[in-house]
This record gives sequence, structure tokens and C-alpha cells, in this order.
Amino acid sequence: MRGTAVVVGGGLGGLTAAVALHRVGWRVTVLERAPEFGEVGAGIGVMPNALRALDALGLGEAVRHDGTPRLPGGVRDHRGRALGHLDAAELERAGRLVAIHRADLHRVLRSALPAECLVTSADVVEVVPRVRYLADGDPVELEADLVVAADGIGSRVRSRLWPEVPAPVYSGTTAWRAVTDHTGDLEIGQYLGPGTEFGVLPLAAGRVYWYAATLSAPGLRAPDELAEVVRLCGDWADPIPALLAGTPGGSVLRHDVHELAAPPSTYVHGRVALLGDSAHAMTPFLGQGACQAIEDGVVLAAACADADTVAAALTRYDRERGPRTRSVARASRLMGRVGHGLRHPAAVAVRNALMRSVPTGVALSGMTRFSAWTPPALAAPPSPDRPV
Ligand SMILES: Cc1cc2nc3c(=O)[nH]c(=O)nc-3n(C[C@H](O)[C@H](O)[C@H](O)COP(=O)(O)OP(=O)(O)OC[C@H]3O[C@@H](n4cnc5c(N)ncnc54)[C@H](O)[C@@H]3O)c2cc1C
Repeated sequence: MRGTAVVVGGGLGGLTAAVALHRVGWRVTVLERAPEFGEVGAGIGVMPNALRALDALGLGEAVRHDGTPRLPGGVRDHRGRALGHLDAAELERAGRLVAIHRADLHRVLRSALPAECLVTSADVVEVVPRVRYLADGDPVELEADLVVAADGIGSRVRSRLWPEVPAPVYSGTTAWRAVTDHTGDLEIGQYLGPGTEFGVLPLAAGRVYWYAATLSAPGLRAPDELAEVVRLCGDWADPIPALLAGTPGGSVLRHDVHELAAPPSTYVHGRVALLGDSAHAMTPFLGQGACQAIEDGVVLAAACADADTVAAALTRYDRERGPRTRSVARASRLMGRVGHGLRHPAAVAVRNALMRSVPTGVALSGMTRFSAWTPPALAAPPSPDRPV
């Protein structure tokens, strides 16, 4: 089936859905509220599952080229001692992930769409019975066979059409992110200290993305956020002190982490589908939030290509995406609790001892539990001789 789709929101989720639908011959319009398309100045880990989804869209190579394909790094304590061991061959079996700047990933996705599909400064206010948005304050209406609500954790579409879904809640963790320069070869690394964790993802061209997450009351802000991270992690294992010392002051982003603790039981309402954070905003402790949004887009397009009606396509989308995304979200929450969520030294010592004693097979299956996913086949793109 082919048809017309409006995608509300041009984040990583909305753009992936738009590329995937375009690829199977749908006419797509992306409505983005911001005056420009873009992403926050931080990195992201594209896990093997999302990389396969991007491969299905023909974009995997561009993402590998603009990012750095790496073996997943091991988990260490804050002094740098390994918490368990997996050798390179086992890690290779788990699959490489690509660390990439968010802006680069966003650009790769945008480059796969005709410019006329992309509309900025378009604030969507309604999606039923028609899509209605404000362009510089003037109302504009659009008809579409399918509406993809990819308008993020604070989704207006969700609050209008799913009023019973509770608002997102604070997860108890605040997070800092920055991109800095670094010379020398760095590995991907995750360091767990009491109540705080630090992550390192080397990007292309000598840049490194780092993040720190700590238990905190909500809404706190420091006059100098970099100094706050130095206070928490400045004496941790190498390369953390050097990365912090090389980070330009003022370039550190801080966000309190929120999640949809009680996500909708269905992502579908008539011809409207929730996608990405609007459906299943999760904590970032498995690095899967955007990866799940990317999966959503490919599954939605495959369902739309294969089904005879939008209703049938959305039934399949809901069936395939609901259980998986809710399970990833639960696992991510748990990962936070047993990771930086432990603050008491005795609890941290027990956790670390347990992690060191986990057999490699169990550790490997834990790593591949979600990243082993493979995307559905996408129908061939329409031939240029048969424009849709
Ligand atoms: C600290 C942190 C670290 C993270 N790290 C990772 C990671 O390593 N790996 C990973 O996979 N995920 C990670 N995530 C999660 C990831 O960032 C999100 O899951 C992902 O960006 C969600 O994409 P989205 O497109 O669904 O939503 P968004 O990125 O929120 O995009 C929504 C878009 O909709 C637009 N919009 C909103 N309302 C309207 C409207 N009314 N009309 C028009 N447009 C509208 C917004 O302007 C925005 O552009 C992290 C999250 C955090 C907070």
C-alpha cells in the first residue's frame, strides 16, 4: 500500500520514519516546530539493532563513515578496574556499535529526504480530523492517510489523544553531556562509581563524547556545570580527568532524565501512531531510546508497505513495537537502579563482585538481549519510471 503521511516532529525518530516511509513509496511531510532541523550538541551510541535498521534504509554505511564503529567497551569501576571480562571475539559476536555526533546522524537522515518533505517552524496543534499547524502563527491544514506523532517525550498529540496516559516523571537522575577533542586511541568505556556513572564514546575526527549521570533532586543547576562534573568524577580513572580538563567550559549540557513510567498500552489511535519518545520515552541507561525510535520507523514503514489498509498496518506496528519497547524501557530503568543507582559502599561492593563473577556467556547474552534484533525486509523503493 502507498499513501500520504504527516510526521509530527523532526527528531531522530520522526526523520527515520519519514525516510522509511519515503523509501517504500509514501508521500511524506515532516512538520517540525523548531525554526531549523537539528539535534543537541552531544554524541549517541547507535547500537547494532539500530544500525541494522539504518542498513535496511541504505544509510548504515554513511553512519559508519561519519561515526566510529567500535566494539562495545567493558564496564569498569570508577578506579578503572574491569567489572567482568569479555574478549574481543565475544564482543565482535555481540556486534559493533557506532558512536556518532547527533548532528551528523540527523544530517545523514535528512539527506535521504527530498527538501520539499521538510517543513520547519510548523507547530502542530491538532491531528484529527485533519492535521492543523501554525506557520508563523497562521493556521494551515493538511490531509493525510497516516499521522506519525514523533513529537517527543512531551508529546502534545499523546496528551490530546491519550489523555489517560500519565505525564512523564523524573527518573531520579540528572545527566551531563559534552563533546571534546582528544588525541590518542580511546576505547568506549562505562565507569560505575557510587551513585554516579561516567561514559566515554570516541567519535570521528579526534572528538570524544562523554556523559555523566548521578542521583539528584530534580531541577538543580550549578553556575558551572563542568565544575560540578569535575567535583563528582574529576579524580576517577584515566581518561576521565584528561577529558574533563580538555572540555571547554560552557559547552556542557545538563538534563534531568524523565521517562514515561506508565507508557500507553497501545501506540495507535485511529490513523495516528505514536513513535519514539512520544510512545516510550525511556531512561538512557541502555543507550536504546533513539535506537528504539529508529527501529519503530522501519517497522512502521514495512507494515505500511505490506498491508492493504492503514488500520491493518497500524495493528501490526502496535503488535511488533509495544511489547519490545516496553520491555527495553523496563530493562533500562533496572540498569539505572543497579548501576549508578547504588550509592551505599556495601551495595556497590556486592554489585561489583556479582558483575565480576558473571560467566561470560551470561554477560554476552545480557549484552545481546536487545541488540540482536533484526529489521523486517522493506519493500523495494519505487522505480524512477513509476513515480508515486
Ligand atoms: C542524557 C541522555 C542521553 C541519551 N543517550 C542515548 C543514547 O546513547 N542512545 C540512544 O539510543 N538514546 C539516547 N537517549 C535517548 C534519545 O535521545 C531519545 O530517545 C531520542 O532522541 C528521541 O527521539 P524522538 O525523535 O522520539 O524525540 P525528540 O528527539 O524529542 O524529537 C521530537 C521533535 O518533535 C518536535 N516537536 C515537538 N512538538 C511539536 C509540535 N507540536 N509540532 C511540531 N514539532 C514538534 C521537537 O521540536 C523535536 O524536534 C538519551 C537521552 C538523554 C536524555
